Amino acid sequence: MRVSFLIALLLNSLIIIAQTTVIHCGNLIDGVSDDLKRDVSLIVEGNTITGIERGFIETTDNETLIDLSNAFVMPGFIDMHVHIESEYGKDSYLKKFTLDKADKAFQAVSNAKMTLEAGFTTIRDLGGSGVNTALRDAINKGTVSGPRIYSVNKSLAITGGHADPTNGYGEHIMCATPGPESGVCDGVEECMKAVRQQVKLGADWIKITATAGVLSIAKDGDGPQFTIEEIKAIVDTGKDRGVKVAAHAHGVEGMQRAIKGGVTTIEHGSYMDEETMDLMKQYGTYLVPTITAGSSVADSAKIAGYFPDVVTPKALAVGPQIQNTFGKAYKAGVKIAFGTDAGVFKHGKNAKEFELMVEVGMPPMEAIQCATSVNAALLENDKIGVLETGRFADIVACENNPLEDITELQRIIFVMKDGRIYKLIN
Ligand SMILES: [Zn+2]
Repeated sequence: MRVSFLIALLLNSLIIIAQTTVIHCGNLIDGVSDDLKRDVSLIVEGNTITGIERGFIETTDNETLIDLSNAFVMPGFIDMHVHIESEYGKDSYLKKFTLDKADKAFQAVSNAKMTLEAGFTTIRDLGGSGVNTALRDAINKGTVSGPRIYSVNKSLAITGGHADPTNGYGEHIMCATPGPESGVCDGVEECMKAVRQQVKLGADWIKITATAGVLSIAKDGDGPQFTIEEIKAIVDTGKDRGVKVAAHAHGVEGMQRAIKGGVTTIEHGSYMDEETMDLMKQYGTYLVPTITAGSSVADSAKIAGYFPDVVTPKALAVGPQIQNTFGKAYKAGVKIAFGTDAGVFKHGKNAKEFELMVEVGMPPMEAIQCATSVNAALLENDKIGVLETGRFADIVACENNPLEDITELQRIIFVMKDGRIYKLIN
């Protein structure tokens, strides 16, 4: 009696898991191939795509039908550069003193929802307070809704570097100089310890600030910040722990050290010259352009008093560089991944990046592939980024042809992640 009850319970739960959904896709972009497939049925069971068939197949009473027969269906997008905890605004510098982790957590939940509803079913978070990593775990457990997250936890910086959390503070409120435990490290040994500490705290990737940056309270915006020995130590320690390294870099010297040191991605790459592009190709390093962040800080800098005085000239100089450099790097054959730096601008506006990539010469289909199959491969995740049998059902759609008007991707009408629907506008 008891055993049969257990079997019945088990069967029942299997039926729930194996719930079948059929999606009629009028137009399908699979994330890998260059052709647009017409009139296709996607079959989803549980969280997985279990079949792709030609034509619109009939559904039974037990199956759910989603009619996207007039829409353009794609894999869920992946953004390689997001800061999910925060959103930049005029009051950002003050918020460093007024917000605690609980405040950031509530904000992060709201940002995650907006990101997912914009069609981004996976993100790599490139630096926060640790809320980013906790949010990843809460989303994985199903406690809150949001994209899949790969987290670097906290960024690593040299003392006084771009990601030193006390940069620009009065000495009397610094308490103590932050050390490798909080992501600030100098010299090979401290750098190794800092990597191990982030992995201990749950990091999936390591992020370093290889050069100065725009938004930190410091005059320099692009100078080198780690030595090549330090970068090599970070990359090698990461390798031992199974994590790869992303490097924030604006200036050439720091960028070249990062590439030679073995990082996997260069973030921004603002002042990348031809010699550095050749180096990128030689080492197989990816550029994550973040054009949207560049254009957004350049716009904000034109508003008087928006940034502290020390930041304004940097934002005006570096911001507009990024799109130009991306265009040149793409034409030179540098590997490109899709990433926006959302958080520097409004969460949920990530798809603006597609438009800015296409504006300087990348074909729409290739931009979509960057944000899907290319990024999935970079994350070494063979379950996302392509619409094919066996992958997770992370599926999005827009109403009109994005290959004719790339801004269509800024108006997503359908979002499914892990087989669950989060958005459906008819
Ligand atoms: Zn960033």
